[in-house]
Amino acid sequence: MAERRGLLIILSSPSGAGKSTLAGRLRAWDPSIRFSVSATTREPRPGEQDGREYYFTDETGFKRMVSDGDMLEHAHVFGNFYGSPRKPVESAITSGTDVLFDIDWQGAQQIRNSALQDSVLSIFLLPPSIAELHRRLISRAQDDPDTVERRMKRSWDEISHWDSYDYVLVNDDLDETEERLKTIVTAERLRRPRQPGLTDVVRRLQREYEETAL
Ligand code: ADP
Ligand code: 5GP
Repeated sequence: MAERRGLLIILSSPSGAGKSTLAGRLRAWDPSIRFSVSATTREPRPGEQDGREYYFTDETGFKRMVSDGDMLEHAHVFGNFYGSPRKPVESAITSGTDVLFDIDWQGAQQIRNSALQDSVLSIFLLPPSIAELHRRLISRAQDDPDTVERRMKRSWDEISHWDSYDYVLVNDDLDETEERLKTIVTAERLRRPRQPGLTDVVRRLQREYEETAL
């Protein structure tokens, strides 16, 4: 049996606040963290690869996965369907591997209400200002102006769910946010229920007390 069950690390934010950037940095820091590759009906952006950023699928394929019970959660975001395939997540966490999700508040809520709720660590990223959020969406240069405006309009809806998350970080300075994120993950891994090996350590300490008759 694994030392501990893996964590489901959920990162949410309005689009453009920095989820993918920070997800990348977290995985560079600890390559054992597995990224949950979502399925989506949206078109790939330049540079995106099927199976790496997303599994790109059509609506029929997506709906089949949902009706077959293959999605841990799913949602309709910005006119497209997005969902997290269940199997890779379940096998990772039973083998003690942490899984990172870049998903919206609806997905986070569904996972928090699922049987996996005890393993959830949810983190929300806020932009330092709305002007900066707009600047980041434009500077990413991957969406046309209409898409950027649609994402800006949706950003308040996403932000309004900030208080359902375990942690909230204002992603102003990127290096600082990265450090805070790593601190959170390090501490959460050390929570008592997440260290099943502790019982054996304490039993051994107890035996040592008895043997030395202190
Ligand atoms: P999301 O995944 O939340 O949509 P991204 O990670 O794609 O957002 O970030 C959007 C843009 O903002 C990218 O160009 C990224 O390099 C930039 N960015 C992310 N975090 C910061 C930060 N703290 N300061 C400045 N730019 C940032
Ligand atoms: P994007 O199109 O910018 O990659 O993602 C748009 C939004 O969909 C982001 O807020 C992202 O977090 C969210 N998203 C991506 N994958 C999933 C998923 O599997 N489930 C849910 N609920 N949201 C997702």
